[in-house]
Amino acid sequence: MYVNLKTVLEQAERDNFTVGAFNTHNLEMLPSILRAAKHTGMPVIIQTSVATAQYIGYDILVNLIKNFAEKEMVQAALHLDHAKNFDDIKQAIDAGYSSVMFDGSSLPFKENILKTRAVVDYAHARNVSVEGELGTIGGTEEGISVSQENIQFTRPEDALIFVEETGVDALAVAIGTNHGQYRSKTNVNIELLKQINATVSTPLVVHGGTGVKEEDYPNLINNGIRKFNVGTELIVNWNEQVQNLYKDSPLHRSVRDNMIPGNDKVEAVVIHKMGKFMNRKGQMNIK
Ligand SMILES: [Zn+2]
Repeated sequence: MYVNLKTVLEQAERDNFTVGAFNTHNLEMLPSILRAAKHTGMPVIIQTSVATAQYIGYDILVNLIKNFAEKEMVQAALHLDHAKNFDDIKQAIDAGYSSVMFDGSSLPFKENILKTRAVVDYAHARNVSVEGELGTIGGTEEGISVSQENIQFTRPEDALIFVEETGVDALAVAIGTNHGQYRSKTNVNIELLKQINATVSTPLVVHGGTGVKEEDYPNLINNGIRKFNVGTELIVNWNEQVQNLYKDSPLHRSVRDNMIPGNDKVEAVVIHKMGKFMNRKGQMNIK
């Protein structure tokens, strides 16, 4: 079933797991992510940046994911990641995205609240969910960098005001993770996450999931992380496979032969992650 973010996050809250939110950058790797969800029985969030949505086409993404979700009985949401302006958000919602993120984290606190609230009003009237962000996540994503000295961790007291005033369905928190981190792993501030989770009841989101140690997953999930973003790990694995094949590939070779191994690698990575995100042993079958 094609669902919104709120629906899958409520299930995650109820059964204490986290939902993987995987960034696709092209159409090639998209079915692999959806197939992994079918394989594991887990719900899935497919997310795209504005740039990817413009590259592939908002409508094409909506139609493809809706179609797969209905035919294959997979719970899938389509989410716009890190949108910073209202026109892009409106375009996504009007095309049928079931969830959007408004990233006002670089704005002054009050302006972030006001702009997020406006997005929530537009989205909720159309049964679309909204993720907001408070604090700044480090690293680089889609060419936008936040240097280490400019990272601002999320303050629990601000988080409470933010969720109450905006009515967001999910809150991205800055607890020490970085976008684009794949050569090293970060030290997540679990104490801060515990404080935020004790202060707000809104489902929490971790960005820069590639840089999180797998042994920290249970601690994150047990302390309120209900959406777990993974982007860089998919790109790195896809590129590694495809780049190696293209290096020695004759020009008339089918592009399929070079890309399918990349897609298969993505599927394997997503299945592995989803197994961890269940936060339990055995199979998951969300109804
Ligand atoms: Zn992010």
